[in-house]
Amino acid sequence: MKQINSNCEMQTFARESQRNGKSIALVPTMGFLHEGHLELMRRAREKADLVVVSIFVNPIQFGPNEDLDCYPRDLAGDLNKCDSIGVDIVFTPTPEEIYPDGFQTAVAVNKITQVLCGASRPNHFQGVTTVVGKLFNLTLPDFAFFGEKDFQQLAVIRRMVIDLNFPLEIIGVPIVRESDGLAMSSRNAYLPAQQRAEAPAIYKALSNACKLYNQGINKSEKLCKAVSNQLNKNIESDFEIEYIEIYDSNNLTRIKNKISSPATILIAVHLGKTRLIDNLQL
Ligand code: AMP
Repeated sequence: MKQINSNCEMQTFARESQRNGKSIALVPTMGFLHEGHLELMRRAREKADLVVVSIFVNPIQFGPNEDLDCYPRDLAGDLNKCDSIGVDIVFTPTPEEIYPDGFQTAVAVNKITQVLCGASRPNHFQGVTTVVGKLFNLTLPDFAFFGEKDFQQLAVIRRMVIDLNFPLEIIGVPIVRESDGLAMSSRNAYLPAQQRAEAPAIYKALSNACKLYNQGINKSEKLCKAVSNQLNKNIESDFEIEYIEIYDSNNLTRIKNKISSPATILIAVHLGKTRLIDNLQL
């Protein structure tokens, strides 16, 4: 396994691999890798000749009052994990390498970035699409793997790839969960013991909504209300629901009333100081 820090070296490697007929799979991450990330890497390993994992905490996707400065990092541990999966290249550019002096370009996907997480994080998705567009140009992948944990992000990236004709296939990977149901996330490390113990209530409430849906309750509002009631009953720590909404899984449009499959229920919760997101296909 090789670690590359420079854009130029990364792109040269990718172009040479392409010329030699080797397919490339990219797994973009912000590091502090967990089983969710490793699952993306395993899927990439099965799919392509070469696996590139990028580790880059992207400053422009964080808002001014968000957790950029304290975002958890463990490069040595991450490199070991990548090595254990058989990753070929770990791309670890600095912020200066990605955003040199004078940088002033952005990639923006419009409508579907305004809802859900985009409503409370106004520049977040533009930061994501800008860096992912750059990573695509630097690593020239045939396949890029993204987790369904960030359901809206996956939809936004798919839109960008179609709209800008990136010549690659996006592959979504189901959410990997802890044994108690909590969706794995680097940010789970922020949770103090009591909040960590309460956090699985989020998945339990989504699962219950799914059960109610299967029993015939197909009104969006009723299901979302059931989720918020269940959370209010089961979480004692300071918490706030940012959104619970049901969206068409294919085109990311909101379903306000009667649900017609396929639909996904999505949630964002602030548990203490930690913002957690999750979703479940109904
Ligand atoms: P991050 O490092 O949080 O930016 O995540 C990098 C990639 O890993 C994204 O495509 C995420 O959707 C994906 N990912 C993060 N957590 C999970 C999880 N629990 N299950 C599946 N994919 C995940």
